[in-house]
Amino acid sequence: MDTTGRSAAEHPDEAVPRRRWILTGQLGPAFDDGGPILLIESKSTFTKRPMHRAKAHLFLSAIRHRAAELGDRAEFHQVDRYEEVVEVGADLEVIDPPSWTARRFVRERGLRVLPSRGFVTSEPDFAAWASTRDGKRLLLEDFYRTVRERTGILMRGDQPEGGRWNYDHDNRNPPPKGAARLGLPEPLWPEEDDIDAEVREDLDRWQRDGLVQLVGDDGPRRFAATAAEAEAALADFIETRLGDFGPFEDAMLGGDWTMAHSLLSAPLNLGLLDPRDAVETVVAEHHAGRAPLSSVEGFTRQIIGWRDYVWHLYWHLGEPYRTSHNALAAHEPLPRQFRELDAAAIQSNCLRETIDGMRRHGWAHHIQRLMVLGNWALQHGYDPVALNDWFIDMFVDGTPWVMPANVIGMSQHADGGIVATKPYASGGAYIDKMSDYCGGCVFNPRVRLGEDACPFTAGYWAFLDRVEPRIRHNTRMAQPLAGMRRLSDLGAVIDQERTREQW
Ligand SMILES: Cc1cc2nc3c(=O)[nH]c(=O)nc-3n(C[C@H](O)[C@H](O)[C@H](O)COP(=O)(O)OP(=O)(O)OC[C@H]3O[C@@H](n4cnc5c(N)ncnc54)[C@H](O)[C@@H]3O)c2cc1C
Ligand code: SF4
Repeated sequence: MDTTGRSAAEHPDEAVPRRRWILTGQLGPAFDDGGPILLIESKSTFTKRPMHRAKAHLFLSAIRHRAAELGDRAEFHQVDRYEEVVEVGADLEVIDPPSWTARRFVRERGLRVLPSRGFVTSEPDFAAWASTRDGKRLLLEDFYRTVRERTGILMRGDQPEGGRWNYDHDNRNPPPKGAARLGLPEPLWPEEDDIDAEVREDLDRWQRDGLVQLVGDDGPRRFAATAAEAEAALADFIETRLGDFGPFEDAMLGGDWTMAHSLLSAPLNLGLLDPRDAVETVVAEHHAGRAPLSSVEGFTRQIIGWRDYVWHLYWHLGEPYRTSHNALAAHEPLPRQFRELDAAAIQSNCLRETIDGMRRHGWAHHIQRLMVLGNWALQHGYDPVALNDWFIDMFVDGTPWVMPANVIGMSQHADGGIVATKPYASGGAYIDKMSDYCGGCVFNPRVRLGEDACPFTAGYWAFLDRVEPRIRHNTRMAQPLAGMRRLSDLGAVIDQERTREQW
């Protein structure tokens, strides 16, 4: 298995290397083979739709830091549109870009395209694996095991280290009882510099001139903008949070926005951190006896499993996948509270805390994304394409490739079951079990009817009723649907949720 995506002798015919155009997502050393570099900062990236300010800041900071690092080796342009620099037939090479739109752009202009990088497995690897599935579902678990076998990561011969492939069962702890925080040290935050100050001034000016619509706070930059900062963030995660990462992977605490998560998705997606290096560094901690296998396996699974898997599904499922599925007939527009990240206008504690964290940082951890934001959107029938794009725009780590499998597939079940076998819907009981949100909420997770009825609990039954004709043949939904049919007050719950004003 070629696990780098790199071709050995890329262009033996060329004596003089072409300039390589490095895109956002390719800003780290793994995308640089030493030749001349072209970097383009295009305002068009930020003007299409409203964007979280922290995300715009991070992108601009990262490309400007890269230009400064490369010095004379890089030609750096700040323009309105990429077309101003990249003409048809331009004498440029590019590592295959990370979106359908960018891939079309570079091919239409006839640039020389090298195989993609930035993942543990290559696109041909995935295609070869998928072709052996004989029409069976492309399950994450099967893909993940194949990658471990082929790379030897966390393997003892042909057996998984520790005798088990999967430590998910050990990694579903609720937060410690009565704790407001996990009690871990504050993560190491990057120090802003003159480049960040300049970015902030530019964003202020663009906003005043009406060029960009920015949402969210202009807090200090929290995510790595350089490879050195990304390495430091990885080292800090290993030192202070890795041990608790596994057990509390799914837990949520209102007073602890980072929990034991790595906070590495943004530098990984910017190309600043190499995923295989990150995994091997974490695995080495286990081999040195400094990190438990459950945490190390959990982290490895997220990177060489989930991250690579959703990347490959993006290409495998095709460009129309994002817009051509709406299996649950979800057509509601996103409410203002989501679009403007207006947490103050939300009463449900879990949703308010999650949106407030997003407003402050442009980030939320996985269970907040899946079981709070995604669950809410699913229950309320938000348009899946609008939701997909909102996640891209509002998260510092949002990219076109990461979203379709996560949002259209896993979270919203809009694809009718291609990625996940059933909708990820749950009532307030799950949130109550995995967080401390419900204790401080005006609603009660055990109540479905009346003034203090939890919008997630009541919303869950109203959701099942609405989509029942579309999911009744799904055997995994038979039990929840039978439970719904037994509810004597279902009609009243549905009426209540249809007219609910306070949430
Ligand atoms: C609705 C929804 C939206 C999401 N949006 C994004 C997004 O915009 N960008 C993004 O990178 N991830 C996204 N994810 C996946 C995951 O939630 C984030 O990668 C993670 O929360 C980022 O925080 P972290 O770096 O601390 O991750 P950790 O919890 O520390 O996990 C380690 C790493 O594993 C990778 N990873 C874990 N799960 C996934 C996954 N499902 N898909 C891809 N990579 C994964 C990430 O690179 C992450 O940095 C989304 C998931 C859902 C359900
Ligand atoms: S009671 Fe319901 S709305 Fe309130 S925090 Fe719990 S799950 Fe969320």
